Amino acid sequence: MKYDFTAIEKKWQQRWEETKPYAAVTGEKDKPKFYGLIEFPYPSGQGLHVGHPRPFTAMDIICRKKRMQGYNVLFPIGFDAFGLPTENYAIKNHIHPAVVTKNNIANFTSQLKMLGYGFDWDRAVNTTDPDYYKWTQWIFLQLYKHGLAYKTTMPVNWCTSCKCVLANEEVVEGVCERCGSPVVRKEKSQWMLKITEYAERLIDELDDVDYIERVKIQQRNWIGKSTGTEVDFTAANGDRLTVYTTRCDTLFGVTYMVLSPEHPYLDRWKDQIKNWDEVAAYIDEAAHKSDLERTDLNKDKTGVRLAGVEAINPVNQKKIPIFVSDYVLVTYGTGAVMGVPGHDQRDWDFATKFGLPIVEVVKGGDITKEAFTLKDDTGIMVNSGFLDGMTVRDAIPAMKQWVTEQGIGRPKTNYKLRDWVFSRQRYWGEPIPMVSCPKCGWVPLPEDQLPLVLPEVENYEPTDDGESPLSKMTDWVSTTCPKCGGPARRETDTMPQWAGSSWYYLRYMDPHNGKALASKEALDYWSPVDWYNGGMEHTTLHLLYSRFWHKFLYDIGVVPTKEPYQKRTSHGMILGEGGEKMSKSRGNVVNPNDIVSQYGADTMRLHIMFIGDFEKAVSWSNEAVKGSKRFLDRVWNLAEACSDDPAVTPANEAVVHKTIKKVTEDIDELKMNTAIAAMMTMVNDFSANGCSKGDIRILLLLLSPFAPHMVEELWEMKGFAAETGKMAMQNPWPEYDESKTVEKRVELAIQINGKFRGTMQAEADLDNDAVAAMAAGNELVCRNVEKLGGRIVKTIVVKNKLVNVIVK
Ligand SMILES: [Zn+2]
Ligand SMILES: [Zn+2]
Repeated sequence: MKYDFTAIEKKWQQRWEETKPYAAVTGEKDKPKFYGLIEFPYPSGQGLHVGHPRPFTAMDIICRKKRMQGYNVLFPIGFDAFGLPTENYAIKNHIHPAVVTKNNIANFTSQLKMLGYGFDWDRAVNTTDPDYYKWTQWIFLQLYKHGLAYKTTMPVNWCTSCKCVLANEEVVEGVCERCGSPVVRKEKSQWMLKITEYAERLIDELDDVDYIERVKIQQRNWIGKSTGTEVDFTAANGDRLTVYTTRCDTLFGVTYMVLSPEHPYLDRWKDQIKNWDEVAAYIDEAAHKSDLERTDLNKDKTGVRLAGVEAINPVNQKKIPIFVSDYVLVTYGTGAVMGVPGHDQRDWDFATKFGLPIVEVVKGGDITKEAFTLKDDTGIMVNSGFLDGMTVRDAIPAMKQWVTEQGIGRPKTNYKLRDWVFSRQRYWGEPIPMVSCPKCGWVPLPEDQLPLVLPEVENYEPTDDGESPLSKMTDWVSTTCPKCGGPARRETDTMPQWAGSSWYYLRYMDPHNGKALASKEALDYWSPVDWYNGGMEHTTLHLLYSRFWHKFLYDIGVVPTKEPYQKRTSHGMILGEGGEKMSKSRGNVVNPNDIVSQYGADTMRLHIMFIGDFEKAVSWSNEAVKGSKRFLDRVWNLAEACSDDPAVTPANEAVVHKTIKKVTEDIDELKMNTAIAAMMTMVNDFSANGCSKGDIRILLLLLSPFAPHMVEELWEMKGFAAETGKMAMQNPWPEYDESKTVEKRVELAIQINGKFRGTMQAEADLDNDAVAAMAAGNELVCRNVEKLGGRIVKTIVVKNKLVNVIVK
């Protein structure tokens, strides 16, 4: 029979659809639970690309093995469907985003089913479904009620093309991450979430989870905790100018100050600044630059000295100039910095350019950024008054104490992490359930009025003034105040794309619950997610956001664990042939549908796992896919031809136990490629040694998580389904015996015509023909045969002892 993958895959997918072998059972007490999670996809119009199957297949394999090992497994799927690509497509093609979303989800669903993933489809969620986003809105209201959501006017990143506010994380090299258009700064009133309140715990509690190290490092760096000192400088006019520094030991070396162009003092000092026109022009210019452009270390230092206003260094009462420069961001620290050109590269560049004094205060301290980050704190203080002669290590606490005693400073912990901009002026997002009343201010919508459903609009285009298209829906916007009953207006901003994904893993636990985001029983049973795999690019966005929401939900008693995910791993990207990033414009995008129709889903699954080290980027190769197909063909042929013996062939025993061990351990360590290589070796040995039904049974069980369709077909064909009354995937994972994984080897004496000539190593208990064949190929034997000028006429084997080669 031919390996007809198209018919086989269709047959088994239908069987799984009917019998639901992947259904998770909430509350099952007899089995341990395992919750495996992948990042749910954004259902784009292009459909699934070849990057999706890599993490999806890996977690599917893990979950399938766990099921066979007796776990009650939850492996869910859903769709993160709000957001700009769909909205932009809807605008361009005049189709409602809800319709676009529905079509895209249907397409994704059929593609995911085509690949044979063992998802519990009855738990599928869609973030744009009002039954889902009712709870996203509910969580927002809880955040608001606990003081963690607030509205404020602030400079924001504004994409000139998308006409919407971007989070810092969405601005890449000064341009919009989505469309590549320039990003400018704009003052806007925004809803904000106080993620900064959780900064400390988001760092500390990383110690309690099993994340790969690079994820932990990226999160720690992003949160950017530093312990330093706030120091009050004074402007000559009496205004207090506070700076934050981690190096208060260098205060005697401060020779100038710099204010951010957005610093409120600039406007306040308008009349005292003699060169105001020049300053105003500089401020305007800075408004058109992104944060990244402004803080680029290599850029030319620019700035304007404020004429007529000076500051006083509080440690030596010296008058120092004040500059405005765009490398200082108002959202960072206090928006004012002190310049220490003797010991900081950027300050040195700045001082040199503007002809400012450079004072050395640490002897032997290099003028480099590295020196300033305190790698070496053994430098000796000079030109620093009461600090002279101390090491940097001692000078920092001494100065900290001194400024505190003088009342001009205080210890301060700083974080780079900013609060999360949580509104956007677009249509396709969750409505923010808040009402603005002229009398009462912002009033939350009563919870029994949730979900606040997104109304139908004629036009989804953002307005030219940057307001949401919802603002044009007067019927929807005009409402009554829930508090005083007077006329009021609804918030017309919607939530950012990161909202729905911040808690979706909780909804999977109990997706149809109408009374709560999930029942307590389901939350207690399934929490936390045992293993979450996802892209490195989500480390400082989604992963951090969802940890923040989870910790908040824990604090208010909704969820039972402090952390949402016990383990986090990450996969490398799949690049196009030749190692370039896959993109439409390069024409190197691989569509999984093409691979599946040509070779089958099992080959696709196997290949995407065999392609290379899971954590590293790899290039796709159409040629290499064929190798994976050939392997499955060999398994198929071997299974057809095997003997009816139900026992494992003695000659195969060692490879069987070795392979079980290897595949079992490799799956747990995400080394799918080496697990497959081990099965390939096993198949080679089966071919060489001969193969029984007992051997094939083990191979099928090990291969089942990787190539489930073909395995079930062979399992049925060989009669195992009838024998066990179960599919292969429902049988226990094979066990190995450690002692049998080691091949026993013996040393055989080599005799030529009865005379001892040397020894050779061989597997113990090898049959005589195999030993004779080995001897014939042995170098020592060959040399002797040649020397005697004859040929081997007979070989006598004494099992595990000697081999006597007769040459004539
Ligand atoms: Zn854009
Ligand atoms: Zn009111």
